[in-house]
Amino acid sequence: MLFYCVTKMAMIADNLKAVTQRISRSCAKSGRSADVVKLVCVTKEANLQQIEEVLALGVKDIGENRVQDALFKYRSIGGRVTWHLIGHLQTNKVSHAVRIFSLIHSVDSLRLIEAIDREAKKISKVQDILIQVNTSGEESKFGISQDEVRPFFEKAVLYPNINISGLMTMAPEVPDPEEARPCFRRLRELRDEINSLKLTAYSLKLLSMGMSNDFEAAIEEGSTMVRVGRAIFK
Ligand SMILES: *Cc1c(COP(=O)(O)O)cnc(C)c1O
Repeated sequence: MLFYCVTKMAMIADNLKAVTQRISRSCAKSGRSADVVKLVCVTKEANLQQIEEVLALGVKDIGENRVQDALFKYRSIGGRVTWHLIGHLQTNKVSHAVRIFSLIHSVDSLRLIEAIDREAKKISKVQDILIQVNTSGEESKFGISQDEVRPFFEKAVLYPNINISGLMTMAPEVPDPEEARPCFRRLRELRDEINSLKLTAYSLKLLSMGMSNDFEAAIEEGSTMVRVGRAIFK
């Protein structure tokens, strides 16, 4: 049993090293500095022991899909890491979410913006969020459509306890990551379009895009945050 655990831990360490190397290589390939891409380690399928393991290996950012799971894990992990909410958020979970998460990646309705603003205000917080965009047009995907991004942004910036840090997307699951590339490119173009309008004093910086099977293409298209689970905990 002990031997099994040690092997398993060594595997996570090897996987994490491989992922960071892949990130560095993609940055080098696209002429970007490796420190501009943040690795968010997706722990939705990891247990507490596995999370402790990646923390010991230097992981600083973890991503969870569900508020309920994050609450449970937060009780033992606490504020030692930066917490990212990457899954769909229901308005009735917002009060918990603003207490744990530094960045909410999955904001896709004004109802949610309103709820986040209201709950963040109660704890004197300005909540950093990303707007989730459905760049693939797949019906099954969450996120607002590309055409809605500008009007959505114009309304969302009016909420004082919300800070829009950037955009997030999920590419379709395709066998060849090259097929996902147009989604990543589109997200970058949308960010640049919004920034060029100079609608606010600040500009959108973050692009949360790229998962285990497609993060190289995402980095080459300008990702600043990759969300990787399976490649680390497989
Ligand atoms: C699960 C998940 C990821 C990580 O996907 P992997 O394929 O495990 O790397 C990234 N983003 C979101 C929104 C997820 O739900």
